[in-house]
Amino acid sequence: MSEQITEHNSPARWLPAENATREINKVLEKPRKVYVTRKVHFNAAHRLFNPTFSDEKNCQIYDVCNNFYGHGHNYELEVTLSGIVDKETGYLFDLKVLKKILEEEILSKVDHKHLNFDVEMFRDTVPTAEVIAVVFWEVLSQKLKTMNLKGVDLYEIRVFESERNIATYRGE
Ligand SMILES: [Zn+2]
Repeated sequence: MSEQITEHNSPARWLPAENATREINKVLEKPRKVYVTRKVHFNAAHRLFNPTFSDEKNCQIYDVCNNFYGHGHNYELEVTLSGIVDKETGYLFDLKVLKKILEEEILSKVDHKHLNFDVEMFRDTVPTAEVIAVVFWEVLSQKLKTMNLKGVDLYEIRVFESERNIATYRGE
Protein backbone atom coordinates (compact mmCIF):
# COMPACT_ATOMS: atom_id res chain seq x y z
CA MET A 1 0.00 0.00 0.00
CA SER A 2 1.49 3.32 -0.95
CA GLU A 3 1.84 5.96 1.71
CA GLN A 4 -0.47 8.88 1.34
CA ILE A 5 1.28 12.08 0.38
CA THR A 6 0.53 14.74 2.92
CA GLU A 7 1.85 18.23 3.48
CA HIS A 8 4.37 16.75 5.93
CA ASN A 9 5.87 13.85 4.00
CA SER A 10 5.79 15.29 0.50
CA PRO A 11 9.35 15.16 -0.90
CA ALA A 12 8.82 18.56 -2.48
CA ARG A 13 7.63 20.31 0.63
CA TRP A 14 10.79 22.45 0.80
CA LEU A 15 10.05 23.83 -2.66
CA PRO A 16 7.07 26.11 -2.04
CA ALA A 17 5.36 27.93 -4.87
CA GLU A 18 7.07 31.21 -4.07
CA ASN A 19 10.40 29.49 -4.81
CA ALA A 20 10.97 31.55 -7.97
CA THR A 21 11.18 34.71 -5.96
CA ARG A 22 13.74 33.30 -3.53
CA GLU A 23 17.39 34.08 -3.86
CA ILE A 24 19.27 30.98 -4.94
CA ASN A 25 22.87 30.15 -4.03
CA LYS A 26 23.22 33.01 -1.57
CA VAL A 27 26.32 31.20 -0.38
CA LEU A 28 27.96 32.27 -3.68
CA GLU A 29 27.38 35.96 -3.11
CA LYS A 30 30.98 36.13 -2.00
CA PRO A 31 33.09 34.96 -4.99
CA ARG A 32 34.23 31.39 -4.33
CA LYS A 33 37.23 30.02 -6.13
CA VAL A 34 36.76 26.31 -6.76
CA TYR A 35 38.75 23.63 -8.59
CA VAL A 36 36.93 20.95 -10.60
CA THR A 37 38.60 17.86 -11.98
CA ARG A 38 37.69 15.36 -14.66
CA LYS A 39 39.53 12.07 -14.53
CA VAL A 40 39.88 9.85 -17.61
CA HIS A 41 41.72 6.70 -18.50
CA PHE A 42 43.60 5.56 -21.58
CA ASN A 43 45.91 2.75 -22.62
CA ALA A 44 48.88 3.50 -24.79
CA ALA A 45 52.33 2.24 -25.69
CA HIS A 46 55.48 4.29 -25.78
CA ARG A 47 59.18 3.93 -26.18
CA LEU A 48 61.45 6.28 -24.28
CA PHE A 49 64.30 6.88 -26.63
CA ASN A 50 66.33 9.96 -27.40
CA PRO A 51 67.95 9.67 -30.85
CA THR A 52 70.75 12.01 -29.81
CA PHE A 53 71.88 9.51 -27.12
CA SER A 54 73.89 6.34 -27.75
CA ASP A 55 72.08 2.98 -27.39
CA GLU A 56 73.94 2.41 -24.13
CA LYS A 57 72.89 5.78 -22.74
CA ASN A 58 69.25 5.29 -23.79
CA CYS A 59 69.24 1.90 -22.11
CA GLN A 60 70.88 3.25 -18.98
CA ILE A 61 68.48 6.22 -18.61
CA TYR A 62 65.17 4.74 -19.73
CA ASP A 63 65.66 1.10 -18.75
CA VAL A 64 62.48 -0.96 -19.44
CA CYS A 65 60.80 2.04 -21.06
CA ASN A 66 63.52 1.89 -23.73
CA ASN A 67 62.33 -1.54 -24.95
CA PHE A 68 62.83 -1.53 -28.73
CA TYR A 69 59.20 -2.15 -29.71
CA GLY A 70 57.78 -0.12 -26.86
CA HIS A 71 55.53 -1.28 -24.06
CA GLY A 72 52.17 -0.30 -22.64
CA HIS A 73 50.89 1.70 -19.70
CA ASN A 74 47.42 2.11 -18.21
CA TYR A 75 47.42 5.87 -17.94
CA GLU A 76 45.14 8.00 -15.83
CA LEU A 77 44.75 11.65 -16.67
CA GLU A 78 43.32 14.30 -14.37
CA VAL A 79 42.47 17.73 -15.74
CA THR A 80 41.63 20.47 -13.24
CA LEU A 81 40.03 23.81 -14.02
CA SER A 82 39.83 26.69 -11.56
CA GLY A 83 37.73 29.81 -11.25
CA ILE A 84 34.77 31.46 -9.57
CA VAL A 85 31.58 29.38 -9.32
CA ASP A 86 28.65 30.80 -11.29
CA LYS A 87 25.98 31.96 -8.85
CA GLU A 88 23.07 30.96 -11.07
CA THR A 89 24.14 27.48 -12.17
CA GLY A 90 26.33 26.57 -9.22
CA TYR A 91 28.86 25.32 -11.76
CA LEU A 92 32.41 26.43 -12.39
CA PHE A 93 32.41 24.56 -15.70
CA ASP A 94 30.04 21.85 -16.92
CA LEU A 95 32.02 18.63 -16.48
CA LYS A 96 29.98 16.99 -19.25
CA VAL A 97 31.53 19.53 -21.59
CA LEU A 98 35.02 18.88 -20.22
CA LYS A 99 34.40 15.14 -20.70
CA LYS A 100 33.54 15.76 -24.36
CA ILE A 101 36.60 17.97 -24.88
CA LEU A 102 38.89 15.31 -23.38
CA GLU A 103 37.33 12.63 -25.59
CA GLU A 104 37.74 14.68 -28.75
CA GLU A 105 41.07 16.38 -28.15
CA ILE A 106 42.96 13.68 -26.24
CA LEU A 107 41.40 10.22 -25.92
CA SER A 108 40.38 9.80 -29.57
CA LYS A 109 44.03 10.45 -30.48
CA VAL A 110 45.97 8.50 -27.85
CA ASP A 111 43.83 5.61 -26.58
CA HIS A 112 45.22 2.25 -27.75
CA LYS A 113 47.90 3.98 -29.81
CA HIS A 114 51.68 3.93 -29.83
CA LEU A 115 52.51 7.46 -28.74
CA ASN A 116 55.83 7.59 -30.63
CA PHE A 117 54.47 6.43 -33.99
CA ASP A 118 50.71 7.05 -34.12
CA VAL A 119 50.20 10.36 -32.37
CA GLU A 120 51.09 13.61 -34.10
CA MET A 121 51.26 15.64 -30.88
CA PHE A 122 54.14 13.48 -29.65
CA ARG A 123 56.20 13.68 -32.82
CA ASP A 124 59.84 14.39 -31.96
CA THR A 125 59.31 14.04 -28.23
CA VAL A 126 60.40 11.51 -25.65
CA PRO A 127 56.92 10.71 -24.29
CA THR A 128 57.68 10.56 -20.58
CA ALA A 129 54.83 11.32 -18.16
CA GLU A 130 56.30 14.82 -17.78
CA VAL A 131 56.28 15.45 -21.52
CA ILE A 132 52.78 13.98 -21.90
CA ALA A 133 51.50 16.38 -19.21
CA VAL A 134 53.06 19.39 -20.97
CA VAL A 135 51.81 18.34 -24.44
CA PHE A 136 48.26 17.81 -23.12
CA TRP A 137 48.46 21.23 -21.46
CA GLU A 138 49.28 22.83 -24.82
CA VAL A 139 46.40 21.03 -26.56
CA LEU A 140 43.82 21.80 -23.87
CA SER A 141 44.82 25.41 -23.21
CA GLN A 142 44.56 26.07 -26.97
CA LYS A 143 41.12 24.48 -27.07
CA LEU A 144 39.86 26.40 -24.02
CA LYS A 145 41.20 29.65 -25.52
CA THR A 146 38.98 29.16 -28.58
CA MET A 147 35.96 28.82 -26.28
CA ASN A 148 36.51 32.31 -24.89
CA LEU A 149 35.64 31.37 -21.33
CA LYS A 150 35.38 34.11 -18.76
CA GLY A 151 37.01 33.41 -15.42
CA VAL A 152 37.77 29.73 -16.04
CA ASP A 153 41.42 28.70 -16.19
CA LEU A 154 43.22 25.47 -16.84
CA TYR A 155 44.86 24.89 -13.47
CA GLU A 156 46.56 21.52 -13.46
CA ILE A 157 47.22 18.38 -15.46
CA ARG A 158 48.25 15.14 -13.78
CA VAL A 159 49.42 12.12 -15.72
CA PHE A 160 49.56 8.84 -13.83
CA GLU A 161 51.87 6.52 -15.73
CA SER A 162 51.28 3.96 -13.01
CA GLU A 163 49.65 4.07 -9.59
CA ARG A 164 52.92 5.28 -8.12
CA ASN A 165 54.47 7.43 -10.87
CA ILE A 166 52.76 10.75 -11.44
CA ALA A 167 53.70 13.94 -13.33
CA THR A 168 51.93 17.21 -12.51
CA TYR A 169 52.03 20.32 -14.70
CA ARG A 170 50.56 23.72 -13.91
CA GLY A 171 51.62 25.71 -16.94
CA GLU A 172 54.74 27.24 -15.37
ZN1 LIG B 1 57.09 3.19 -19.98
